Amino acid sequence: MKISLEEKSPKTNKVKEFFKKFKSVLEGIFYPANIKCINCNVDLPQKQEIEFCENCLSKLEFIENDKCCKRCGAKLKTSNLCLACKSNKREFKLARSVMVYDGIASRLIKNFKYQNKPYMSRTFGKLLAKKFVSLNWKVDFVTFVPITKKKEKKRGFNQARLLAEEFYKNTGVQLEKDILIKKQETKEQASLGFKDRQENLRKSFKVTNKDKVFGKSILLIDDVFTTGATANACSLAFKKAGAKEVFVLTVASTSRKILGIEDKKQDEKLESDNALKSLIY
Ligand SMILES: [Zn+2]
Ligand SMILES: [Zn+2]
Repeated sequence: MKISLEEKSPKTNKVKEFFKKFKSVLEGIFYPANIKCINCNVDLPQKQEIEFCENCLSKLEFIENDKCCKRCGAKLKTSNLCLACKSNKREFKLARSVMVYDGIASRLIKNFKYQNKPYMSRTFGKLLAKKFVSLNWKVDFVTFVPITKKKEKKRGFNQARLLAEEFYKNTGVQLEKDILIKKQETKEQASLGFKDRQENLRKSFKVTNKDKVFGKSILLIDDVFTTGATANACSLAFKKAGAKEVFVLTVASTSRKILGIEDKKQDEKLESDNALKSLIY
């Protein structure tokens, strides 16, 4: 359902933001739930929990629990450690993703985030909940990767927050919404090495209530796991505040092939490492 409020929107930013949010809320309520595929928009034969048609569902590359990196959850043929986890310190205990971030998955998530389609979180949240149940993790509460207030106002929502809210609806795991904040936008990361990027990121996240995280096992939700730098930075912030451990759950995980420079170097290293030839890149 399309609702256009653009022409009527008054010029002040606050009112514009209000209408943007209002539009999202309306779409969330009126978008025909469970009857259209959220990818191709085809009518579904019946109301269903996961709003994908059979054709789109068959194209998604789901990650099996025993065929991924045992630390970061990137899809592999085995459950060994991936090269990125062998060479980089991981602050989270375990990370897992529902599917590989390529093809349909990447288009879907980009639509969800940038094309103002918050209702897509319903299906993603259910997929996250199913994955969580299959993993048997014990956590005290769930939270999500925050974005800056400025970014949230611009986009109208934080996609990770929506995912965590849907996850909560489907699992009943306690949801902490404001436990972690992102203070400032992270500087352009592309030219920096892994360690500098980490340091840069780490400084931008802040735990708001240390008492609530002390000794706790925390589940952190985000849309995509790429290098793991964001998950690492948030996990470190929680651990510095006294958390026992952090688990990370995302909708999709980037295939190791399309990661940054360090990973290209790692790919070269991989060629001479026979033991790792079973990995899918
Ligand atoms: Zn479809
Ligand atoms: Zn890994």
